[in-house]
Amino acid sequence: VKVTAITSGTTEVGLDDDWSATADAGHRMLDEMLEHLSTVRERPAWTPPPAEVKRELADPSVPERGQGLEASYDDFKRLVRPYTLGNIHPRFWGWVIGASSPAGMLADMVAGGMNVNVWGAEESAAYVEAQVIGWFKTVFGCSPDASGLLVSSGSMANLVALTVARDAAGGDALIEDGLHTTSQLVAYCSSETHNSNDKAASILGLGRRNLRKIPVDGDYRIDVGKLRHAIEQDVSAGRRPFCIIANCGTVNTGQIDDLKSLRSIADEHGLWLHVDGAFGALLALSPRLRPLVAGIEHADSLAFDLHKWLNMPYDLACVLIRDASAHRRSFSPPASYLTRLDGGVASGPHHWGHLGPDLSRGARGLKAWLLLKTFGFQRFAQIIEQNVAQAHHVGALIERAPELELLTPVVTNCVCFRYQRAGLDADALNALNRRLVIRIQEAGVAVPSSTVLRGAFAIRLAIVNQRSRLQDFDEFVQDVLRIARDLDDGAGGQP
Ligand SMILES: *Cc1c(COP(=O)(O)O)cnc(C)c1O
Repeated sequence: VKVTAITSGTTEVGLDDDWSATADAGHRMLDEMLEHLSTVRERPAWTPPPAEVKRELADPSVPERGQGLEASYDDFKRLVRPYTLGNIHPRFWGWVIGASSPAGMLADMVAGGMNVNVWGAEESAAYVEAQVIGWFKTVFGCSPDASGLLVSSGSMANLVALTVARDAAGGDALIEDGLHTTSQLVAYCSSETHNSNDKAASILGLGRRNLRKIPVDGDYRIDVGKLRHAIEQDVSAGRRPFCIIANCGTVNTGQIDDLKSLRSIADEHGLWLHVDGAFGALLALSPRLRPLVAGIEHADSLAFDLHKWLNMPYDLACVLIRDASAHRRSFSPPASYLTRLDGGVASGPHHWGHLGPDLSRGARGLKAWLLLKTFGFQRFAQIIEQNVAQAHHVGALIERAPELELLTPVVTNCVCFRYQRAGLDADALNALNRRLVIRIQEAGVAVPSSTVLRGAFAIRLAIVNQRSRLQDFDEFVQDVLRIARDLDDGAGGQP
């Protein structure tokens, strides 16, 4: 292929279009997005994309010629903005999804403007990330020598931690020559553990079946007796237990495993203790709620999200790892093009690209740093306490409503319940509640999600929303009852 040389007189192009037009568009976008956020309560909690919008978004013809920022932003306002997930709405409590904040949007903008690749050069954002991780080490009571990394998600945080756990068990032989150099590695968690850990088990070549799902007790906490038994069985069969994954906030019910007992069992057998604390770990921010997560400071690794209960913009999560050298060893294969020099840009103490799968990385730390300084840890703790109080409040309302059944006691911020109707068997009741949750979402009054608890289809709230107020929950319960009473039994197929 021969590339023609640029001759003088040719206009060269870049992407910095007219600064003044860009500024005008930018100011309009900023004002309108703030307006969009400040009026969010006036709109439905969810509005699905209509057919014509989906058709337009499925058009594969390539935009060969640019239409400019203003027109593209208008397309965004027409096709995208009205039909997004709804998690910025005060009545969004589905799955576990944060709402962010106006300051979060601005932090995203500032980080976007810097567009720094935080792979570990001698530059300020590398130090900012270290400071943010240092703050979290303090908050969780970890040693200052511990390592950490900001990552895209709780799933990635679990993957990074479990990689280090696996490599620490198998050592250099495993890292250099692969899994066949060690006997069959086995990890343990409860049946309530999040499926990102199953993904990690398969990505890491362990096999999902070698992540043993230990049954839970009546409170949805891992049954430590059964865990002990499973470990002993694997040992006597010649397999190699290496890790326990503890739940700190199960995704279904917000339960917390007995972290102290799990630490003792891990110590007895020489196992790594990883804590999946995606949202629940943040309970540690509140002096009042911290006893719920007692023992979290003794984990070998801890995964938690900043985009869930800290309501920071997506994607933002963190993993902390007690053994910093084990962390480095897992992710630092040699590379001539990344050679560190004694000075210049390729120097400095923080090698972020050597602590996880990503080399090029955005300034996640900068967003977190701006927001933690803006609000302070105490504000985040207040919101967490507020959400837990809201969960207990709505739990009590459900218990008082004869037509509603609370399916498990509220421990932290998750509420699972269903609508009851006399004369329906288990299957019909499940079908009715399945239709009910869809109806609630489609009515736009709120967004709960669903799960299944011991065979019962449950409507589930996971409250991590900084915008929710107590009255939202009062009205939610009224809305649920109103919509449920209008549903027939489904026998005639007439919803
Ligand atoms: C949400 C969640 C995850 C996964 O985190 P993402 O940020 O969604 O990838 C893992 N574990 C638990 C308990 C969760 O709630």
